[in-house]
Amino acid sequence: MIRKLIGKVLRRPGKRVLHAKHYGIRRDQLHSGALKVCDRLQDAGFEAYIVGGAVRDLMLEKSPKDFDVATSATPEQVRHVFHRSRIIGRRFRIVHVPFGEEIIEVTTFRGASEAPTDASGRILRDNAYGNIEEDASRRDFTVNALYYDPRSEEILDFHHGVADLENKRLTMIGDPDLRYREDPVRMLRAIRLSAKLGLTIAPATKTPILVHAKLLENIPQARLFDEMMKLLLSGSAWACLMALRENGLHKLLFPLLDKLLSKPETTKFLRIALENTDQRLNEDKPVSAGFLFAALLWHEVEADWIKRQAAGEYPVPALVEAMNTVEDKVQKRMAIPNRYGAAMKEIWLLQPRFEQRTGTRPWRLMEQQRFRAAYDFLMLRVECGMVEQSLGDWWTRFQNASEDERMALMTAAADNGKPAATSSTAARKRRRRKPTGPKAE
Ligand code: ATP
Ligand code: MG
Repeated sequence: MIRKLIGKVLRRPGKRVLHAKHYGIRRDQLHSGALKVCDRLQDAGFEAYIVGGAVRDLMLEKSPKDFDVATSATPEQVRHVFHRSRIIGRRFRIVHVPFGEEIIEVTTFRGASEAPTDASGRILRDNAYGNIEEDASRRDFTVNALYYDPRSEEILDFHHGVADLENKRLTMIGDPDLRYREDPVRMLRAIRLSAKLGLTIAPATKTPILVHAKLLENIPQARLFDEMMKLLLSGSAWACLMALRENGLHKLLFPLLDKLLSKPETTKFLRIALENTDQRLNEDKPVSAGFLFAALLWHEVEADWIKRQAAGEYPVPALVEAMNTVEDKVQKRMAIPNRYGAAMKEIWLLQPRFEQRTGTRPWRLMEQQRFRAAYDFLMLRVECGMVEQSLGDWWTRFQNASEDERMALMTAAADNGKPAATSSTAARKRRRRKPTGPKAE
């Protein structure tokens, strides 16, 4: 009781000004473009701060993903200071200021006035401007409402964000129930940020999530897709997916997840695929979104592929048909942009070609643009027992072998009589016993 009271008194609202240096944040750690944006806006007589994820991540000694600036200047005034900038967004107008390859997102302080909402309380537009205090109250979590002034090297903390960071706690600003109704995507952000940053979601911030999952149905597909990509590329994708499921939020974004996690072999496949991706991201290595989608949907494709081959279809046309069937089903729920979809399909289509190890085929396969991703995918299937280990080992050796060794490997594969058995070769054998006539492959 007394503890609660002390806690309440200590968490009284009000601005705290902290020296950034005390928290290990130096000006030179910040993006030079973001610093320039702040400097020029301040020179023009406006307030300007680096805000949000960048300050939060630096305090946690993590490197920020992007740099956002909050200012008292309106979008038009920002445009006036930076001639190459662009105003984007309707629901939430922001200005993109390009700096070389990077874009700095500049937002005008949001006001406390009532924004128009739909029947469920979802904010339709949030373009009423205000002062910094009001802006801080309209942000989602306390740890995201820290403002860094590069000139004074001070951090302004309006909602005990620093205390929450020190206690590794994620707390919604204001009434969590209302704030989730205003923007249900905040539920997904809560899950992602807690998994990615190792923060515990405060009980009052967590409880409403369990009853509000359905509100996500009102969110436009494109925004959900963006959030899904952020989850998958967060560096903690596996942890995010598990937490989404625990909180009943996965149905719209990952409708196949329950099915995948109902079997040990498909669970293992997904876990290894996502953990490998997480590891690559944490080592700053590039990852392919096409590979991720290929892994997420493979189980569906493979099941249909096996069924078709068992019914007598040849492996390659059966795979193409299976891919088309699954793609049609998925596109009805959420459109995968073509740039990812094309890579995903190439990775799948190259899988049966790993079984062909005679003539010039192995060389031709290695020349394919997606060979590396397809090989990684094959090895994932090997690791999960979907393909024989010997086939994976053969390809690993073949890639690194001299010409003579390669010839020996090919002879050995041919001497074995047949390629190492996979689900598709096994099905083909079954098919041969059937008295069906030949078909074109
Ligand atoms: P990261 O960029 O690492 O994913 P972030 O917190 O910076 O995390 P952004 O999407 O870049 O996320 O948003 C920048 C800031 O804008 C946030 O820190 C938060 O203050 C605010 N913000 C973003 N989305 C919302 C939202 N849905 N509701 C309220 N505030 C938000
Ligand atoms: Mg950010």
